[in-house]
Amino acid sequence: MEIIRTISWMKETVQQARADNHVIGFIPTMGALHEGHISLIRRARTECSRVYASIFLNPTQFGPNEDLSKYPRTFAADVEKLTAAAVDVLFAPDAKGIYPAEFRTYVTVEGLSDRLEGQSRPGHFRGVATVVLKLFEIVQPHFAFFGRKDAQQVRILQQMASDLNLNTEIVVCPIVREADGLALSSRNAYLNSEERRAATVLYRSLSEAQTEVDAGIRDALQLQTAIRRILSSESLARVDYAEIVDAGTFEPVLRIGARSVYALLAVHVGKTRLIDNLLIEAAADSSLRSCL
Ligand code: AMP
Repeated sequence: MEIIRTISWMKETVQQARADNHVIGFIPTMGALHEGHISLIRRARTECSRVYASIFLNPTQFGPNEDLSKYPRTFAADVEKLTAAAVDVLFAPDAKGIYPAEFRTYVTVEGLSDRLEGQSRPGHFRGVATVVLKLFEIVQPHFAFFGRKDAQQVRILQQMASDLNLNTEIVVCPIVREADGLALSSRNAYLNSEERRAATVLYRSLSEAQTEVDAGIRDALQLQTAIRRILSSESLARVDYAEIVDAGTFEPVLRIGARSVYALLAVHVGKTRLIDNLLIEAAADSSLRSCL
């Protein structure tokens, strides 16, 4: 695996690969890699002839009181994992390369960025959209692979790709979970053993919602109440939001039916903020399929 640090060399490498008719798949990450990230790489491997990953701990998506300085940094182990997963190129620029002192341009996806994660983390999606657009311009991938774990993020990036006529197609991949249901996350490393046990409450509450949907419940408030009941049974958990929203607009819904919806969670477990979701997909024959 080649490790590229500079934007100019990354651009040259991509230009050559495109001239050689390669199909380029790209997986942007912030490092501290786990099986969730590797699942995106595996998916890219099946669909693309060149797989490029990036590790960039993007400062503009962290708020002033967030965990940028404490975010886990495991570069050597990440390189091993990416090599084992047969990644062709790792792009690992430094912050000054991406955000030089005179940097002034940001991307805002209006409306979608203000709710839920965006409300709890002001400026977060502006930072995400800006860095992803920059990475797309540098890496020029045909396909970019993102996890459904960050459902609002990927929806915002799809909107950006459509609004700005980007040449990169965004591919959404399933959530990878631990055996007990906890969604893999770099932030799980912050949990002590008691918090780690408590953190399964997110999955347990979404599983309950899934059971209710499978049993025919269509009332969003009833689902939300069931989710909150389970979340409140865990004393180490403090709910930031637990909402049933339209999967396109991320606006709250009253009933589940014609359109796909998400049950979205953000929950503090101790000092660690975790997110997770259940996707309830509406099929053309108006049946529903739920995916955790
Ligand atoms: P991050 O390094 O947190 O920015 O994540 C990089 C990519 O990995 C994003 O597209 C995430 O949605 C995805 N990702 C993170 N955790 C998981 C997971 N448990 N399952 C699937 N994808 C994930």
